[in-house]
Parts: sequence; C-alpha cells; structure tokens
Amino acid sequence: MRQIDTKRPVTATSRAARPAPVTTMVERAYDHLLYMLMSLKIAPGERIAIDTVARQLGISQTPVREAMSQLEAEKLVYKMPNVGYRASPQMTRAEVRDLYTLRQLIEPYAAARAAEAMTDTAIQTLRAIGQDMSSVVEGDARAYSRFAEADAALHRLIATGSGNRLIAETIDRLHAHLHIFRALYATNAPHEAAREHRAIIDALVAHDAAAAERAVRHHLECSQQRMDAVLAQGAASD
Ligand SMILES: [Zn+2]
Repeated sequence: MRQIDTKRPVTATSRAARPAPVTTMVERAYDHLLYMLMSLKIAPGERIAIDTVARQLGISQTPVREAMSQLEAEKLVYKMPNVGYRASPQMTRAEVRDLYTLRQLIEPYAAARAAEAMTDTAIQTLRAIGQDMSSVVEGDARAYSRFAEADAALHRLIATGSGNRLIAETIDRLHAHLHIFRALYATNAPHEAAREHRAIIDALVAHDAAAAERAVRHHLECSQQRMDAVLAQGAASD
C-alpha cells in the first residue's frame, strides 16, 4: 500500500512525486486502453470492465481506474451510474459537421498568428511532433494511437501559439483528435494527414502566416471529407 502523508496537501507537485511504479502502472493501463479504443478492439459504446482489464494486464484495479479517469477526461470513455464505464459512441454526422464548422472558424486564424509568433522552442517542439508522425507504420495499431496523440499535440501547439488563451481552451475542450482518428481507423488517414501536416509545419517554421492559414484550412477540409466518407459508409451498412 502507498503511504499517504496526511500532513501534506494533495497538490500537483505531491501527486507528481508519488513512487514511480504507480505512475508506470497507470501509464501501462492508459496505453493499453488507448490502443484498444483507437483500434476499435473495444467498440464504440462497448462496456469496459475494470476488473477484466486489471486481470488481463496482471495489475491491480487502482491504476486501471486512474487510467479510465484520464480517458474520461479525453471523452473517449464515459461513466454510467451502477453500470461502470463504456467506450464513447461514434460521432454522428451532425456532430462532425458542427465540429469542423467551429474548427474552420478558429484554427486557420490561430495558425496565422502562431506562424508570426513561433519561438525557437516551439519550432523544436514542432520538429519533434513531425518526427513522431512520420514514424507511423502501416498496420501498427500502437503507432496509430501515437499518431493521433501527435496530431492532438500539433493542433494544441498551434492553438496555444496563437497567444489567445480562449482559442487554446476552446480547441482543447473539443477533444477532437482521438475521436477523429478512432473513427478513421482502417483508413489511409495518417498518410494523407501527414502530408497535410508537413505543409502546416513548413509554413509555421517559415513564419509564413498566409501559408499556415491556407494549409490548416486545407487540412481541415480534407479531414472532414475523410470523416464524411467513413460515416457515409457506416450509414450505408446499417
Ligand atoms: Zn491534424
């Protein structure tokens, strides 16, 4: 059992200072569940039993519960009273349309401002994200969820790079990226998106505001088309 020091308030610092093995277990549970959700091995809407996951991973239920809370914050799972956790349902076509309408209003503008304001540190981070994205291997589901996380990181960097806190918070609150890539699993999305991201990254690094704005607008159009194609297929096979 972990010793709880009652004299110290529970703050972000004291949480970060917890013994390493606990963090590792939570990370392991998180990575496993993210992989299962993103690769649709856990289907949208499916119930997720904490004790089963814990048994599969050979760990206790506590880190699994903590990983679930993180995934709940990402809106990939939700908790139902007396039932437990379920994987979030797939986005509907109306939700997709609303999501991209909002993103088109905000993100191209954010990209232009970010391109003007790019610092050396931000450029370094951008390059690292670009590297992460190019490491996606065909048919590797774990690399796939890493790609989705890198996509989230890129769009977050653009949002915060805009220097407008409300824009950054609004985009963050959409939790769009993991949902989008979960829906696009078994498509060629990462390869197509990687090309579009390359154009965005190049424009940001070059401090070219107009090109960054254009590249983000184009990327969002393509991404919406990919989502539409998948959801139209789903509707046809229902
Ligand atoms: Zn993207």
